Order: sequence, then C-alpha cells, then structure tokens
Amino acid sequence: MRKYVIMGVQGSGKGTQATMLGEDLDLVHISVGEIFRLNVQQHTKLGAQVRRTMAAGELVGDDLVEGVVKARLAEHDWNFGFIIDGFPRNERQAEFFLESYDIDGVIHLDMPDSEVRRRVLARRLCSGCGMDYNLLASSPAVAGQCDVCGGELIPREDDTEEALAVRLRDYHQKTNPVLDIFRRKEYVVTVDARPDREIVQQAIRAKLGLPPGALPVPSQDGQPASSGQPASSGQPASSGGQPASSGGQAGPQPGG
Ligand code: AMP
Repeated sequence: MRKYVIMGVQGSGKGTQATMLGEDLDLVHISVGEIFRLNVQQHTKLGAQVRRTMAAGELVGDDLVEGVVKARLAEHDWNFGFIIDGFPRNERQAEFFLESYDIDGVIHLDMPDSEVRRRVLARRLCSGCGMDYNLLASSPAVAGQCDVCGGELIPREDDTEEALAVRLRDYHQKTNPVLDIFRRKEYVVTVDARPDREIVQQAIRAKLGLPPGALPVPSQDGQPASSGQPASSGQPASSGGQPASSGGQAGPQPGG
C-alpha cells in the first residue's frame, strides 16, 4: 500500500502526474478540486456552497474540505493506496491529514509563476463531460470541441488573470508552509515540473525509489502516442452523491 500527496502550484501538472503514477501503481487518484468541480457541474448542494469561492480563486473553508476528504477516503476503494492532489493546502489541513493518515511521500512539483500563468491561461474544460485540455500541450482534433463527447471547450471559471493572482498568492502564503511541515518529516521529493510530462514522471519515480515507468510508444509520426490522447481513460464518476474523479493539467484529462 502506497499513500502519496502531490503538491504544486496551479498548472504544474499535478493531475497529469498523479494520473500517470496512479494508473501504473493502481493507486486511487483523489483530486479535491475535481470533486468540487463535478459537484458544481452537477448542481449539488456542495457545488452551490463552493462555486463562488472557487470562481474567485479563493480557498474553500477547511471544515468543508476536510469533510469531503474524510468522506472520500472513507470509501476505502484504495486497496493499493492513493495519491491525493490539491490537499492539504494550509497548515490546519496538513495537521488534520497527518493526524488521520500516514503517508509514504510528498511529491512537490516545482514551477515558476511565469510558467504557471502561461499554462493556466491555456487550459480549457469540456462543458459536456468535464474533460480538461491544455492547448499548449495538446489541442483537440477539432478546435474548441471535445475529442471525447464533442462538447464545447470553455475556460475554467477560475482560470482568469484575477483568480490566478489570488491563487498564486494563497499558494505562496498558505501552501508553502505545508511543504515545510512535510519537509521536517523528510517526506518531500521536489521535481522540476517544466519538462515534458514523461520526463517529469520518470524523475518522480526515481526520487521516490520506484521502478521507471514504461516509456510511451512512438506513433507513426514519431510523436509519443500519449500526446494528443487522453492520458487517462477515467471519466467523471459519481459516488454516493460526491462525484469523485482524478484531475489533469497537461493534456486532455478528466477535470483538474
Ligand atoms: P484545484 O483544481 O486543485 O486548483 O482546485 C480548484 C479550487 O478548489 C481551488 O481554487 C479552491 O477553491 C478549491 N480547493 C481545492 N482543494 C482545496 C483545499 N484543499 N482547500 C481549500 N480549497 C480547495
């Protein structure tokens, strides 16, 4: 059983890297932001509670977040372990988490703010199925249209300059101290998040002492087959009224 936390500023590829590692090691990928987004999309009570906060780029209240994480982990569908992304985001959440769960490692994806801005402003979300795209890494086959369901691709409500500024500020003020807590426990491996996602993935594995992952199979045009394809086959899934799914950043991904 392996239990990992993945941390990094918005657009650093947490969802993509968590999905890649999770699929290979049979870890359940839990993305708190994705759970919220699916609830907003499905107009649940929780969705109504978090929508405005999320759109402004602010952090949702700790009680609500901790309740969601507790409920999700209580599903106990993670026989081989989990990788959690987007949590903990401040010191209180970190303390709550460490009181309840032991972890094997914290993956810290390091990326400068200038690169974050470039990536985040190129993100698009399918208004139909929630699939997440990044136009810098892989455009859909038809511009503005989801490869999976044909739905219209729109920017995430919180991927605006204004909301991004709030989120970056919060990250540096509130989430960096979380890294310090984890560093003191010697859990943290830091990886440069700027290279291609396969390179980042191999660096994560090397630093965690895991065997290297399978290299992507080249397609006929010489590009890695994963490029332009959904990196995960997961679809937004609903469970017990709490939609739960993984998130993604770099290519078409289920949310995140
Ligand atoms: P993310 O997809 O991780 O960028 O999360 C999207 C949004 O969900 C954030 O901007 C917050 O509004 C909310 N959110 C996600 N995770 C947390 C958390 N651990 N604490 C508070 N708010 C969160």
